[in-house]
Amino acid sequence: MEVLDRLERGGCGRDVPLSAEDVEALLRLPLDGEDFYRLLSLSGRLSRGKFGDRGYVFAQIGVNAEPCTKNCAFCSMGQGHYVMESTWRKDEADLLEEVRGLVREGVDDIFLMTTADYPQDRFMEMGRAVRAELPAGMRLVANIGDFSPETARGLREAGFTGAYHICRLREGRDTGVAPAEREATLRAIREAGLELYYCIEPVGPEHGPDELAVEILRARELGVDMMAAMRRIPVPGTPLADKGQISALELTRVVAVTNIVVNPARSMNVHEPIQMPLLAGVNQLYAEAGANPRDVRSRTEEGRGFTPTRAWAMLAEGGWRPAR
Ligand code: SF4
Repeated sequence: MEVLDRLERGGCGRDVPLSAEDVEALLRLPLDGEDFYRLLSLSGRLSRGKFGDRGYVFAQIGVNAEPCTKNCAFCSMGQGHYVMESTWRKDEADLLEEVRGLVREGVDDIFLMTTADYPQDRFMEMGRAVRAELPAGMRLVANIGDFSPETARGLREAGFTGAYHICRLREGRDTGVAPAEREATLRAIREAGLELYYCIEPVGPEHGPDELAVEILRARELGVDMMAAMRRIPVPGTPLADKGQISALELTRVVAVTNIVVNPARSMNVHEPIQMPLLAGVNQLYAEAGANPRDVRSRTEEGRGFTPTRAWAMLAEGGWRPAR
């Protein structure tokens, strides 16, 4: 296959020319053909060459379980179809206790996530309190609704080092957020000097290579160093549940193409954690606690969420280890 030949010969640097058609061709590779395994091999070798055997576990805490006005059609907390079993907001004491437990168990970065309507000033206060608990140098990442340049600077001042923010697939159609709003927040993140964590998500069976390529190339353009790909979980009761989910093989292909095209400097993730994409060079997994848009249990650590120990065990199966 011509694109693979070219990448194998010329490397996968961000300066290597790649068109949308090239990316789409990689995303179309038949899953039972030899070129699919060349793709995995290229992606796996790319990660090993950069990361050695260094693995990462990031932990995300969902700070509130409440109906969200953005009403995303894949999310258990969309206000038009709320299917989580309860509603609550974590208080600071509970949050800090949870953070201490995750740090003790062993994680690299801590993420705090809220629904889009959660008050941003309250979030800043929680962030400051969490920052004070974290070991020096541990990254703290915000995963919240869209925000202004002023709020982005406020996040920095509160001690956040980065933000998870993306333009989701079919943004504005399957979600209540205009793509332009997501793009404005992405600019604010960069301008404030926050590190950007990006993901191709939530990938479902209906998303074609053209749609995936747009977001993969956006991440490449943004120079993302913590990259991910996530398949949509068909949460019962959500509007998109009937569309089902892509297979592990299909997800592995998306992961491999994303890793090759974006070429992140620090980590490549698959979500939710499964082993197969580790073959394509995934070196980072998420532990999750609290509310989770893919779960109906509002304490996802008792449901779909992995603990750090479980995430490290899966990474070890792929030969990825914590910092020594
Ligand atoms: S995915 Fe996020 S923005 Fe969308 S409904 Fe759920 S909490 Fe709100």
